[in-house]
Amino acid sequence: MPMSKAFEARLYPQLEEIAAHFGTPFHIYDETGIRETGQRLKKAFSEIDGFREYFAVKALPNPAILAIMADMGFGFDCSSVAELVLARRVGGRGEDLMFTSNNTTRSEFARAMTDGGSIVNLDDISLLGILPDVPEPICFRYNPGERRTGNAIIGTPVEAKYGVSHDQLIQAYAEAKALGSKRFGLHTMLASNELDHTYMVQTAAMLLEEAKRIMEELDIRLEFINIGGGLGIPYRPADAPLDLEAMGASIFDLFRQFSRETGSMPKLYMESGRFMTGPHGALVTTAINRKEIYRTYVGVDASMSALMRPGIYGAYHHITVPGKNDSDGQVVDVVGSLCENNDKFAIQRRLPTIVKGDRVVIHDTGAHGHAMGFNYNGQLRPKELLLRPDGTVELIRRAERLEDYFATLDFPADLLETRIDAAFARLAN
Ligand SMILES: *Cc1c(COP(=O)(O)O)cnc(C)c1O
Repeated sequence: MPMSKAFEARLYPQLEEIAAHFGTPFHIYDETGIRETGQRLKKAFSEIDGFREYFAVKALPNPAILAIMADMGFGFDCSSVAELVLARRVGGRGEDLMFTSNNTTRSEFARAMTDGGSIVNLDDISLLGILPDVPEPICFRYNPGERRTGNAIIGTPVEAKYGVSHDQLIQAYAEAKALGSKRFGLHTMLASNELDHTYMVQTAAMLLEEAKRIMEELDIRLEFINIGGGLGIPYRPADAPLDLEAMGASIFDLFRQFSRETGSMPKLYMESGRFMTGPHGALVTTAINRKEIYRTYVGVDASMSALMRPGIYGAYHHITVPGKNDSDGQVVDVVGSLCENNDKFAIQRRLPTIVKGDRVVIHDTGAHGHAMGFNYNGQLRPKELLLRPDGTVELIRRAERLEDYFATLDFPADLLETRIDAAFARLAN
């Protein structure tokens, strides 16, 4: 179940006109679909007081998209100064922002705590010592270690560099309390692209258990727990979608039980990226070459600089050729032009026979798509378009140009003359 039939119905009839006007390649995002998923998320967790989604900015860091999230009442999960600046640009302030960084510097914390601030989510107990001030509220990211298993993208918790260990957790809150903090939250992020909703339910159960331990040992009532992102989407036609409604109902049960046992009820925060936007984006390319050697290669006008996931994770992205049906297919590799043999969008995939000029649509690029792009081999990243609910198509990021590639070579001369050590110079002779 890749791109929805509804998105296809909104996009395909206009595709030629859009491609002719803007030129390929481009990522195009479907505002209607994004809003529908946002409403569905809110509804699934509506019984939990204070539920809030903090959209993971890194999944689709475009201000036009972030403005849609803000309009739906969502906050933003940021992990760098640039992401904080982006979220603030669309009006995010204070507790609209969660700053979930790791390996962070004091000056990054200072940026997170000024310009309206943010919820600081600490990745390590030692970071309490480098904070410029005491943040309010203060949150810790929890790494359960061997208590949980992770998955391929994020690694197993014991091997993951993130978070505070089980044994450090009580100490972390004790130290934060001693510094004068009065408001607290607890966060974790364990899965990536997880399609089994019971995994996410277990994560909520785990955090509530820790919340109880913190309450019993330190008399601290957590204001919120944040179960992170990682909700999966069905990239392959045969994948069963995540049952969001069952996830919401089960987590609500856990909260009710927690409330009965402790007399308190934290808020529930979540920071989905992929689930919010992944299926609502597509990379539209044009076939520019065909090559028959040991295999048949279809070359398109985008490369892995526009979509890294197949190259770095071997990830599957569904591909269709609008107007052509699958029955008269041919097995091909769909490739970009980068000098790396993993620059392939599909490997040995049966697709309709593609000829030069065909539009080749790569599905589910709405999250971790454009955002992950890079410039290796002088490849430039493509433009981004937004399909509005009224049918308008808007350019929301232009394509990179050669000037952008060369921009960092344009600077005032800066020369440092050092003295070469005489003894070392003799040795080298
Ligand atoms: C990447 C990330 C997310 C979003 O992950 P998705 O798989 O896109 O939902 C959320 N929180 C943190 C801390 C992340 O690093």
